[in-house]
Amino acid sequence: SAPDRYVVIGNPVAHSKSPEIHAWFARETGQNIRYDRLLAPVDGFRAAVREFIAAGGRGANVTVPFKLEAHALSDELSARARAAGAVNTLRFEDGRILGDNTDGVGLVNDIVCNAGIPLSGRRILLLGAGGAARGVILPILAQAPAQLRVANRTAGKAEDLAREFDAEGPVSGSGYEVLESAFDIVINATSASLGDALPPIPPAVFAPGAFAYDMMYGREATVFMRFAAEHGASVRDGLGMLVEQAAESFALWRGVRPHTAELLADLRTRL
Ligand code: NDP
Repeated sequence: SAPDRYVVIGNPVAHSKSPEIHAWFARETGQNIRYDRLLAPVDGFRAAVREFIAAGGRGANVTVPFKLEAHALSDELSARARAAGAVNTLRFEDGRILGDNTDGVGLVNDIVCNAGIPLSGRRILLLGAGGAARGVILPILAQAPAQLRVANRTAGKAEDLAREFDAEGPVSGSGYEVLESAFDIVINATSASLGDALPPIPPAVFAPGAFAYDMMYGREATVFMRFAAEHGASVRDGLGMLVEQAAESFALWRGVRPHTAELLADLRTRL
């Protein structure tokens, strides 16, 4: 029979590794799916989704710059998509659009399961207060950290986020200048690495034996990863987060969770 169809919708989208990742998952789990890239005009997200649904599409991943629009377009939202205020996974079912967000759980799975670093009881520093940071706050707090500090260049945005998630756990917000205490885990959710920039954090934020995570990934270590390593932290990039969020989307669509370790190792060699 014809494969069930999925896409990743974005602009740009040519660089996306999602088709490769989902094709690998489909082989591994024996699922008959087809997964393509769909380039939507910046003002044409809704039309692209409607067209894909009309053509029989079953689900979609959503990437830059459409995650907020996907949130607005969803008829129904998961709790984590509602908290994130953004949607990276759509499921089309009986004429309805269901929105989910798997980025946060992808990050947590990569740190806790793949890297073997528990978040529970730890002091965690999250750099950035944009979409990526917002999406991971609830899944991090669900791990019961001792403390979560959100720090951002525009301090007010970090303070607002902390206030918003106040009821969910021990979270606070600030700018970078006031950071002086040490953290066990430092997560870079800024886009600074894209421009080879480093958020202005003092080296003292890295506790002895600290773990540093950059959501960015690439062939080379980012400037944040190099800075963290120079100050004694063990480091990891965001490739595992990418693979884990994809696995969660796949599980949501297909009801079967693919294994990720072998794929992650393979992707790593081809970066
Ligand atoms: P946003 O544009 O929503 O937010 C950008 C954030 O970065 C803001 O907090 C901004 O601070 C900060 N920032 C930008 N430039 C600098 C700088 N030079 N110095 C200090 N802070 C800076 O982006 P997103 O949150 O959507 O994405 C952030 C990153 O996360 C991206 O690099 C993206 O690729 C990555 N990501 C990775 C994923 C994965 O699967 N591995 C999944 C999702 C995202 P301010 O508010 O002051 O402007």
